[in-house]
Amino acid sequence: EAQKETRGFQTEAKQLLHLMIHSLYSNREIFLRELISNASDAADKLRFAAVKDDSLFEGDSDLKVKVSVDKDAKLITISDNGVGMNREDVIDNLGTIAKSGTAAFMQNLTGDDKKDAQLIGQFGVGFYSSFIVADKVVVTTRKAGDKPENGVRWECDGEAEFVIENTEKATRGTTIELHLKSDADEFADDWRLRSIIKKYSDHIAIPIVMDKEVPAEEEGGEPTIEEEAVNTATAMWTRSRSEISEEEYQEFYKHVSHDYSDPLTWSHNRVEGKLDYTSLLYIPAKAPFDLYNRDGARGLKLYVQRTFIMDDAEQFLPLYMRFVKGVVDSNDLSLNVSREILQKDPNIDSMRSALTKRVLDMLTKLAKNDAEKYATFWNEFGEVLKEGPAEDFANREKIAKLLRFATTHNDTAEQTQSLDDYIGRMQEGQDKIYYIAAENHNTAKNSPHLEVFRKKGIEVLLLSDRVDEWLMSHLSEYDGKSLQDVGKGELDLGELDNEEDKEAKEKTAEALKPLLERAKGALGEKVEDVRVTHRLTESPACVVVPEHEMGAQMRRLLESAGQ
Ligand code: ADP
Ligand code: MG
Repeated sequence: EAQKETRGFQTEAKQLLHLMIHSLYSNREIFLRELISNASDAADKLRFAAVKDDSLFEGDSDLKVKVSVDKDAKLITISDNGVGMNREDVIDNLGTIAKSGTAAFMQNLTGDDKKDAQLIGQFGVGFYSSFIVADKVVVTTRKAGDKPENGVRWECDGEAEFVIENTEKATRGTTIELHLKSDADEFADDWRLRSIIKKYSDHIAIPIVMDKEVPAEEEGGEPTIEEEAVNTATAMWTRSRSEISEEEYQEFYKHVSHDYSDPLTWSHNRVEGKLDYTSLLYIPAKAPFDLYNRDGARGLKLYVQRTFIMDDAEQFLPLYMRFVKGVVDSNDLSLNVSREILQKDPNIDSMRSALTKRVLDMLTKLAKNDAEKYATFWNEFGEVLKEGPAEDFANREKIAKLLRFATTHNDTAEQTQSLDDYIGRMQEGQDKIYYIAAENHNTAKNSPHLEVFRKKGIEVLLLSDRVDEWLMSHLSEYDGKSLQDVGKGELDLGELDNEEDKEAKEKTAEALKPLLERAKGALGEKVEDVRVTHRLTESPACVVVPEHEMGAQMRRLLESAGQ
C-alpha cells in the first residue's frame, strides 16, 4: 500500500526556512553545492557498505551524480546512485529541520544576516537550501539493497508540511527535483549550472555529469546526447598541492566540515615510509556551538585508499585539538577497520603524534605570518588550546609558545601577548614569569597583589579564564623560567629587590613584630600565619594562599563541579 501521509515540521521550521532563504539570498547558487555534497556523501556511504556486501552495487559500481535541467519547465534534477534512503531515513533526515537543536539555533540568531548565515551552516540545514531557489522540492529515493517497490517519495513546498508516500523506484539512490521559483529561473540554464559546479564542486571525488549534445559525424545526421563530467572527479587530497587552488581548498573544507565560512588556514601533506598516508587538516574560523559539549562531534574524516570509512574519527588528534577538521587517508589500514581497532592500533598512535605536530606547526606558522588571523583563532579556540599542556605534556613548550594572555603591560582584557613578548620585556635580574589568576579580568587587574609589581614596573599576566589555573598547574616553566603566581606563598622578588629595599624591609619587620603577634592571637585557627608583606603599596592587608594550595579560582571550579 502507498501509505501516503502528511506530516508537519516543528513549529520553528517555517520561521527557520524563511530566515535561511532571506539570509542566503545573496548567495543563492550554493544550493547546488549542498545537494552535490550530499550526493557525494551518499556515494561514500555506499562504497563503505559495499566493502562488506558488494551485492549492494546491484551491478552498477560507477558512482556518479547527474545534473539535468529543463529550461521550459524551470526544473533542475540532481540524481545520484549512492546509498539512498528508506522511509524511516527520509523522515529522520528530511523531516526535521536543524536536527542539532532548533531551540539552540533560534537563541543564537543575531539578526545580522552574515552572522546568521554562518550559524545556519553550523546547524546542518544543507538540504533545505533547496528552498532558496525552489518552491516545490520532490525527493524520490530507494535504499541500496531494498526492493524497487520500497522506494519513497517526499514532497514539500517549503512551508510547514511535507507529504511522504511509497513509490516504485527501479534504480537505487536519490533523485531531487527542484521546481524553481519564478525569480530563480536564471538557474534553469545549462551554462550557469556548469559554472556553479566548476566553482563549488570541482573537488568532489566522483564525476558530476551533465548531458551534452554531440554533432553527428556524417553530414545531415542526427546529433547524439552524451554524458560529460563537469568536474575534475578525483579525490582532491590525492592531487599535488601545486595543482590545487585556494578556492578549491576552501570549497573542500565546506564539504567536509558542513561549515559555510572559509577556514583560517590548512595543511596538506603526504607521508611515505613506514606509514603511508595523506592528511589535509583545516583550522576553522568559527567555533561550533558544541565545542564544550562532551559528546560534540570531533575528529577527522577517515578514508582508506580513497574509500570513505567513517566521519568523526577522533583517534587521530588529541582532545585539545577538537576544533580541527579534515581528512586522513591511510594506505596501511584495512578497509574493515573499526573504531575499536583504531583505539588499539599502535600505528594510530604514531599517526596521532605526527598529526598533532602538524597542527602545532600550522598554528605556529599562522601566528608568525598572519597576526590578524591568529587573533581570530585565539578568540575562538584559545581556551581549548589551553587544555593542551595538561593533556599533552610532551608538546607543552610548543603549545606554550602559542598561548596569548592579557597582561599589565597594556591592561586590556584582550588576550594578545605571548610568553615570548613577556620575556622580551622582563626587567634586568627578573628570572620568573609572574601571573595572577582571578574569576574575572577586573578582579585580576585590580588585585592588591599587583601593587608592588606595578610600582616596580614588573609585568604580570592577568588570567581569568576558567581553565587558567588548570593550565598553570601543568605549565610550571617556559623557556627556562618558572611561572609564579603572585597571589601565592612568599613573594620573593630575588634580584629585583635592591639592597636599600632589603634593609628597609628588615627594619619594618622588627618594628611590626608585636602587631603580628596580636593579629595571630586574634585570628587564631583561621590562618596559618600572619606576615609582614611588601607586595602592597596602597592596601593595608591581603589574603595569601600558601604556595602548594589550590588557587581561589581552582577551588571555585571544583566547588561548582560539586566536589
Ligand atoms: P548534512 O549533509 O550536514 O548531514 P543535510 O541537510 O545536507 O545535512 O542532509 C541531511 C541528511 O539527509 C544527510 O545527512 C543524509 O543522511 C540525508 N541525505 C541528504 N541527501 C541525500 C542523498 N542524496 N542521498 C542519501 N541521503 C541523503
Ligand atoms: Mg549536506
